[in-house]
Amino acid sequence: MNSNKHSVVIVGFGGMGKYHAELIKMNNSLEVVGTYDVLEARRTDSIKVGYKVYESYEEVLADPAVEIVLIATPNDVHKEIAISALQAGKHVICEKPVAMSKEELLEMLAAADAAGRVFMVHQNRRWDEDFLTIKKMYDQETIGSLFQIESRVHGANGIPGDWRHVKAQGGGMLLDWGVHLLDQLLFMIDSKVTSVSSSLSFILGNDVDDGFEATLQFENGIKAIVEVGTTNFITLPRWYVKGIEGTGIIEDWSLTGRLVTRNHEGEKIEPKPIRAGVGLTKTMAPPSEGATITEALPQPAELGSSFYDNFAAVIEGTAEPIVKNAEVMRVQNLIEAIFESAEKNQVLKDFDMYGEGK
Ligand code: NAD
Repeated sequence: MNSNKHSVVIVGFGGMGKYHAELIKMNNSLEVVGTYDVLEARRTDSIKVGYKVYESYEEVLADPAVEIVLIATPNDVHKEIAISALQAGKHVICEKPVAMSKEELLEMLAAADAAGRVFMVHQNRRWDEDFLTIKKMYDQETIGSLFQIESRVHGANGIPGDWRHVKAQGGGMLLDWGVHLLDQLLFMIDSKVTSVSSSLSFILGNDVDDGFEATLQFENGIKAIVEVGTTNFITLPRWYVKGIEGTGIIEDWSLTGRLVTRNHEGEKIEPKPIRAGVGLTKTMAPPSEGATITEALPQPAELGSSFYDNFAAVIEGTAEPIVKNAEVMRVQNLIEAIFESAEKNQVLKDFDMYGEGK
């Protein structure tokens, strides 16, 4: 083991646990020293790639060589694994969604406080370049100040895997993908959500949602539409944003997209009416030539440090966490408001977004 790196044991060596192992191999701050999984097959996978395999979770906690427990199990067991790790003096990286409820998250944060250990949630999609491109447009008003942000992910594969179908294990798409999209929005927009209107879809007949739509109104005037679908055989763009000077679109994760803005230098030529369907329209006719400018997307914003490097720096006391626990709590509160709005079929106006996360 390289003594300059902080030692990590991955608990839950499934899809995401293995992905963390791959990413950490390329990281200079952390090093995976072993894994623990309840399934024999996953232990065999771990031995094959050369990691030490712990036979029990107690063995992980009792090993003084382990500094960090990285939790990549299904969502219903995050809390118990995190709290025992913190109580054993380990720092914790926890997968999203951090917990099943606000109450669970409060218990986890109290355990981190009591132990004086670092607890950070892996909201890795803050580093997605498509999101960071929108964040740059938001921060720099590339198409004027944004007043509508539509963030969608569409798939056609239904809900993958096993536990994601099970409510008691924290399944469903609001918890799975919703938490990413909402985290991105709240990270970017520093304003209170004043109303939430949502609906969940149960097209596939599971007891958990296979998608949802939520409309959020922010105090600063921005409206956000967030949508996750798993039965979309034709997808809508990943991002569609409107600013007072133009419109932006990002089609997908490969950053295909463009901006179209008003051309202030252009000659003011009225658009010509067009035949549209069986009618005639000037309102919906394309802008006349020269009235708009099409541009490439700006370069993504930068967060300064990778998730793992930031985590190491927080342990070392040299940086603030990029994913702050108060922000994670806000997202948790918002998720609960979205569930409530859908269940009551109501626009929710007076929920406590900041709650304990101020
Ligand atoms: P998975 O089913 O592929 O893997 C989960 C593993 O945890 C399994 O190997 C299972 O045997 C093991 N496990 C279950 N209970 C355990 C326990 N008590 N102790 C030890 N091991 C246990 O699931 P996944 O897709 O890897 O998801 C795991 C977590 O990662 C979830 O919280 C999920 O939301 C999150 N995730 C995050 C991202 C991301 O981009 N941040 C992507 C995928 C999944």
